[in-house]
Amino acid sequence: MDHTITIRKIEPVTHDVLRIVADKPAGYAFEPGQATELSIKKEGIPEEKRPFTFTSLPGDTELEFTIKMYPSHDGMTENLGELETGDSLAIGDSWGAIKYDGPGAFIAGGAGITPFIAILKDLKRQGKLAGHKLFFGNKSERDIIYQKNLRAWLGDDFYNILSEEDHPDFPQGYINREFLSEKNLDAGAGKKVYLCGPPAMMDAVEADLFAMGISRSQLVMEGLE
Ligand SMILES: Cc1cc2nc3c(=O)[nH]c(=O)nc-3n(C[C@H](O)[C@H](O)[C@H](O)COP(=O)(O)OP(=O)(O)OC[C@H]3O[C@@H](n4cnc5c(N)ncnc54)[C@H](O)[C@@H]3O)c2cc1C
Repeated sequence: MDHTITIRKIEPVTHDVLRIVADKPAGYAFEPGQATELSIKKEGIPEEKRPFTFTSLPGDTELEFTIKMYPSHDGMTENLGELETGDSLAIGDSWGAIKYDGPGAFIAGGAGITPFIAILKDLKRQGKLAGHKLFFGNKSERDIIYQKNLRAWLGDDFYNILSEEDHPDFPQGYINREFLSEKNLDAGAGKKVYLCGPPAMMDAVEADLFAMGISRSQLVMEGLE
């Protein structure tokens, strides 16, 4: 079922990522990590649906989305920069494969961090964050979504890597077997590995995880496309 919701706040998180806070329809339910089809309802903007993840928690009074804009795609997100407080969005029901299923490691590429923001926030509120690790790959330091919050939540269990920037504080490259082993992925039997990112990153990391001996049943994953 579609719901029309009103934007209450819209602000930048990084140079190309927006935080959008909107009304939550009465009785609307989802689990941390889930998404919904969202479209813009504004005159002059085509009503195209794309899936976006809730970065707020089910018990919050409002819905929050964290959305990366791709002006070069000629898709839905190039129009997000035109939105203002008071504008309307449409959302459908919640869905999605990523849900928390026990302790382990989170591996994200770019906007693939969004389901893990909700899950980590939920674990933090419950006082159950200890023992979880986050591996986060981005092109450059300015692309790291919620870097300060994630560092404050996870401390030394937060491992970044940058593919396109030579930065004094971060290793350079992609998330791969070498990086995960060096940082001690620690995915022994019974531990989960949560994976979310762009399709090419998902394929590469999934193959590396299998090569490291991680079984399909340990993986909880969903691609951004
Ligand atoms: C379950 C799920 C949850 C998601 N949650 C989030 C979230 O919380 N936050 C978030 O930011 N995103 C999220 N995404 C991704 C999001 O749904 C969109 O795919 C993404 O925002 C791109 O949408 P778009 O309309 O801008 O472009 P697209 O629909 O990807 O592309 C539009 C057109 O642009 C062209 N194009 C595509 N890729 C490229 C490229 N690399 N270079 C040049 N041209 C290209 C193609 O011709 C395409 O037809 C999620 C995806 C899924 C599946």
